[in-house]
Amino acid sequence: MIQLTLEKTGSTGMLHKTTDIAIIGGSTAALRAAEAASRRAPGLKVTVISSEEHLPYELPPLSKIPLSDEVDIESLIYPSARALQEQGVDFQLGESATALDPRRRVVSTHQGDLTYRAAVIATGCEPIMPPVFRGERDVFVLRRFEDSVALRRSLADAGRSVAIVGAGFIGGEFASTLTGARRAVSLIDLAEHPLIRFGEAISTVYEDLHHINGVDTFFGVGATGTVERDGRRFLTLSDGREVAADVIVVGVGVRPAVSWLASSGIELENGILTDRYLQSCQGVFAAGDAVRWPNGRFDATMRIEHWTTAAEQGRAAGLNAVSFVEKAPLTPFVSVPFFWSDQHGQRVQWAGYQTAGQPVLSSRSDDGSMFFFREGDFVSGVMAFERRQEFVQLRAKLRRPVAWGELPDLVAGLEPVIATVPVP
Ligand SMILES: Cc1cc2nc3c(=O)[nH]c(=O)nc-3n(C[C@H](O)[C@H](O)[C@H](O)COP(=O)(O)OP(=O)(O)OC[C@H]3O[C@@H](n4cnc5c(N)ncnc54)[C@H](O)[C@@H]3O)c2cc1C
Repeated sequence: MIQLTLEKTGSTGMLHKTTDIAIIGGSTAALRAAEAASRRAPGLKVTVISSEEHLPYELPPLSKIPLSDEVDIESLIYPSARALQEQGVDFQLGESATALDPRRRVVSTHQGDLTYRAAVIATGCEPIMPPVFRGERDVFVLRRFEDSVALRRSLADAGRSVAIVGAGFIGGEFASTLTGARRAVSLIDLAEHPLIRFGEAISTVYEDLHHINGVDTFFGVGATGTVERDGRRFLTLSDGREVAADVIVVGVGVRPAVSWLASSGIELENGILTDRYLQSCQGVFAAGDAVRWPNGRFDATMRIEHWTTAAEQGRAAGLNAVSFVEKAPLTPFVSVPFFWSDQHGQRVQWAGYQTAGQPVLSSRSDDGSMFFFREGDFVSGVMAFERRQEFVQLRAKLRRPVAWGELPDLVAGLEPVIATVPVP
């Protein structure tokens, strides 16, 4: 049965529309939600409200595409987004949601209100800009297509120096892209050891990777401001040093884009808190980087900022939104978080969940290294540097609990890194 979209103009002159499933957000999680919902229930009207001007597109290439290549929106847009649009999914582009009223089942935008039967929130994250850089020219974040275009434009002159503030995965990837183009680049981080949350051994491998490939690193120091001399700009560091910085790239992290939900009554705590069905309140589901949910696979509540989790959650939330409309049972969402990162020709991969644990075992070969995390009697996570095949197998195994004692049968050449937990 096809649902008709009602459009009428209220006394304010604003549009009032109705839909079956409203999806708020315009990236990976939103697209997967729209795809899953419209496949499962082709008769339901699906409306996507996205603040972006483009159909959903891939973010991961934005930090990886070689500097010599153009970043082209047409090739980044997910083909399935175009297919969905042709099939009747209503993409309201360039439109931001400003409020949600779950009781009345209404999402508001500057254009008017949309009444829904079920909603999926997928507004993701927005980059953090430290106050020290506010109002400075040629300072960039890297989150959206437009950021990438502006950043690359500023790099057109190969003589310009680049400082990257934040040595996480995005900062590291862009440093790698720059050295790939033989550009001088400084990588700065407050932490003495980048990625230290994964333990010292992994941090050392990551640091070495950047050093060997010619990145100038400044760790354990903060950026305190900028100075200009002879027409060049320099970043001042907390230890008194200065770093050439005609262009500054800021990659210090992101925060959930949820301020528009402030009056909704939805529980917000480092993201949108949901139950195990990704439901935040009756008929309102959430997916992607903005969500914190109890993941039954690890018995922990987590918020994950990885592409695959956003895609998987989008699909699950879209299906549960359909089930809600059809009064069918909801399905819990469980996942083994996974990410990949490409740096200096190496594929870095992670699967699992990491608590305060240290990497306790490693396996090193001429090709690369793997590190294993332990939680109780089980393997909780694995990090691999250029050990693609073995990683794929281990990632698949982690779908169910893997006993710590099984590891020596699965991986050759295990050795303790930090002997907090002995090899069984
Ligand atoms: C440069 C870059 C490289 C990356 N590389 C990797 C990688 O190699 N591996 C990996 O695992 N992950 C990677 N990621 C992370 C991955 O892309 C994200 O985890 C994923 O895109 C999250 O998807 P999302 O849909 O939850 O949120 P987002 O991608 O943040 O999208 C949120 C969407 O909601 C829209 N929106 C926000 N507020 C509103 C509003 N009020 N109304 C309407 N629309 C709104 C935004 O415009 C956006 O379209 C990378 C990310 C970036 C930026």
